[in-house]
Amino acid sequence: MNFSNTLPPYSPDDLGNAYSFSDSPFRVYVHIPFCKKRCGYCNFNTFTSFSLAPGFDKNTYPSLLEREIKRVKRWQEEHAIPLKPASSVFFGGGTPTALSPSQLSKILEAIRDAWGIEEGAEISTEANPDSVEGKELFDLKKAGFTRVSFGVQSWEPRILRILDRTHSPAAAWRSIRKARKAGLSCSADLIYAAPSEKRKEWIRTVRLTSSLGLDHVSCYALSIYPRTKMGRQLEKGLIAEESDGAQARDYELADSILSRRGYKWYEVSNWAREGKECLHNIGYWKNDDWIGLGPGAHSHFSNLRFWDFSRPGPWASAVQKGDLPWEGEVLGQKEREEEEIFLGLRLKTGLDLEKLEKESGKKAKSDLISSFYGLAYLKEGALFPTLRGRLLNDFLARSLMDYFLE
Ligand code: SF4
Repeated sequence: MNFSNTLPPYSPDDLGNAYSFSDSPFRVYVHIPFCKKRCGYCNFNTFTSFSLAPGFDKNTYPSLLEREIKRVKRWQEEHAIPLKPASSVFFGGGTPTALSPSQLSKILEAIRDAWGIEEGAEISTEANPDSVEGKELFDLKKAGFTRVSFGVQSWEPRILRILDRTHSPAAAWRSIRKARKAGLSCSADLIYAAPSEKRKEWIRTVRLTSSLGLDHVSCYALSIYPRTKMGRQLEKGLIAEESDGAQARDYELADSILSRRGYKWYEVSNWAREGKECLHNIGYWKNDDWIGLGPGAHSHFSNLRFWDFSRPGPWASAVQKGDLPWEGEVLGQKEREEEEIFLGLRLKTGLDLEKLEKESGKKAKSDLISSFYGLAYLKEGALFPTLRGRLLNDFLARSLMDYFLE
């Protein structure tokens, strides 16, 4: 097929024909698109009804995913794309724990049957603190899960109400305690710069999180999107967005508290105890290969990028017919280098500048590097963001792209 004569998105067959070999680790992401109630800020592809389309509900979803897994494997075989065992598996959502441990285990087994899962691989699930009880956490551990990432967001009841979360601080505390007892590695997601959140409330949230013996903490600035409940509240002037300055202040506070409590930052929004970084997420930032399964899931496979249909109806009907429920695009060298710059700058391990110089045939001039003063520094051929530079990651990435890739 001559890709210069066609425009993306391409069909799965066209994508298979355009695949170029990669020796990256292989990872699997599973999207579970169910939630009990939509949070005020949520713009994820998730639904509060448990019946999403004919033949697609909470009970049939594991079988639909099983069909998609088998079909993806067949696509690889048809196009001579190597099959590799998964180095990590991540269940995200939505609320993966809206499904029972036995349903999640069934999906995990289908992944194991199709590709295999490496010995000792990291297997994570996200969970809402009020969606799992003690027994379920033990069952997840028994099924092979190694890690749970709880959507804690805040320990302040007032902030949880503003965010429209369904759980209470007590429920989050109980779930974390039980997950640790079950032998699962635990992470907490926190949200900063919620409307009207006070500095002391955020400090309390980070301090309490860091005192619970968790292995990993993620902190994300609240983004308010137009077509969400909070977006409408913002439009009507009922709430106000926090300023960039307040966001930067909260980020720096989190970094300082977490660092003092033994957590090391390793990616812009992530801190972990030594050796407890989320390997699956590092794979995303290192440009590894991964297959995403379920409505709206994205896949990143060597030079191919493809995405599952996000609407449940078309997704389920394609899977039921035995078709691949996705379309995608083929990246050229320039787009792949753009990705490398953008992703490399997010990591503690820095961006390999020497490699970029080699690929682009351009040397980084000293005035380019000195324009990054206070934001990034050069060491042994790599560029590392400073604390302030992590907040201005987009500016650094854009400057490097303009210099090397234009
Ligand atoms: S739990 Fe997460 S995915 Fe579900 S509605 Fe809330 S923010 Fe969205």
